[in-house]
Amino acid sequence: MAPDWSFRKNMTPTPYNPFHTAQAQVDAATERLGLERSMRELLRWPMFETQFRLPVRMDNGTMEVFQGYRVRYNAARGPTKGGLRWHPDETLDTVRALACWMTWKCAVLDLPLGGGKGGVTCTPAALSEGEKERLARAYIRAVGHQLSVDRDVPAPDVNTTPQIMAWMMDEFETLVGRHHAGVITGKPLPLGGSRGRSNATSVGGLYVARAVENLLGHKLTGARCAIQGFGNVGGGLAELLHEAGAKVIAVSAVDGAIYNENGLDIPAALKHYARNRQEIGGFEGGDAISNEQLLTCDCDWLFPAALENVIHEQNAADIKAPVVIEMANGPTSTAADRILHERGILVVPDILANAGGVTVSYFEQVQNTYNYYWSLEQVHAELARRMHDAFDAVHAEHQRVPGPMRLAAYMLSVERVAEACRLRGWV
Ligand code: NAD
Repeated sequence: MAPDWSFRKNMTPTPYNPFHTAQAQVDAATERLGLERSMRELLRWPMFETQFRLPVRMDNGTMEVFQGYRVRYNAARGPTKGGLRWHPDETLDTVRALACWMTWKCAVLDLPLGGGKGGVTCTPAALSEGEKERLARAYIRAVGHQLSVDRDVPAPDVNTTPQIMAWMMDEFETLVGRHHAGVITGKPLPLGGSRGRSNATSVGGLYVARAVENLLGHKLTGARCAIQGFGNVGGGLAELLHEAGAKVIAVSAVDGAIYNENGLDIPAALKHYARNRQEIGGFEGGDAISNEQLLTCDCDWLFPAALENVIHEQNAADIKAPVVIEMANGPTSTAADRILHERGILVVPDILANAGGVTVSYFEQVQNTYNYYWSLEQVHAELARRMHDAFDAVHAEHQRVPGPMRLAAYMLSVERVAEACRLRGWV
């Protein structure tokens, strides 16, 4: 009997669908690896997904009903792991794409984890702290029965914070009636968080940039860097690059970008951003430019660290940086990827470049399980080792397989997941 793949129809008909990009990336790798048809189908779809409604009492006494999602993409290599994004544009397909990318990210870092992701369609800036807490607790009441350290472990992502993770952990522990800190990562330190988690993605990005410098000869010290996004990842990276002696010439947030060819005063820009409700506009240490101008400015390194699909068919030909380090998930469209590769621009793919966050989340789970906590030096040493090992493995594959570095990273990770599926007898 022909398999029923009618669930494919449940996809968002938006002009840009990140899950289509994610599937195209998987297809390129499975095809190049020559995987069997059933394996290709298995790997290009989530294995488990849930959608649910979340009724939440608002401060004015009315009820609002939010849409929530949790996707466990592939659990062959271990419990699924992945952040929770709260965003007005969240759809089942954005969550599927992010869960898909998490699968390959965990595999490329050789973590014993599968990939997952969750989200809520909402406008966090319009919610009070009390409303956020009730939404966080409602989310856990809806999916808590599916979560555990050996099944599925959420973490923070865009617009979710350590405080939101703390409310979620508390709700979960209240429901099950015991401590279970490892059920969620990205928690505040007093509740079992890991040292080094808050800027782990940025630290991992710096290790990757250093590896590119050492192995591929692109100088970082004194180099001109442009960073799109000035939040947890982009802001943290700007600070690290500035401290490392790079010249951060442009940074941006959702409201626009700031440019200074002599290098921005990053500590001052971070203070301005924090004081001005996460906006960069009005910062006096540079000239105002648009996010589009930031992406195409004359620089040596470009770090997209905001959202998906910012480098696309229309602007890929104008990117001037010879190196792009993808700190955001899915910042480059499939067409743009091809253009950048043809132009000889090195793109270090998201599944490698931004994997520092999930790696330290994994360390947090390990520490919670042992109930024994590491020093910051231990976390950084272990993170550096994991990131360098992963970079070296991807670099070796890239030397072997002609094409973009993304293809090499996907071939390595897809093969690891495929091997686990095969050993389990899933295909
Ligand atoms: P964040 O919410 O802290 O920051 C996002 C930043 O991007 C903000 O400065 C915001 O103003 C800016 N931004 C939003 N929309 C924009 C737009 N349309 N144009 C330009 N800038 C825009 O989020 P974050 O945690 O820093 O995550 C950023 C990216 O990194 C996301 O793709 C996320 O999935 C990815 N990521 C995050 C982590 C993590 O540990 N936080 C780990 C891996 C990957």
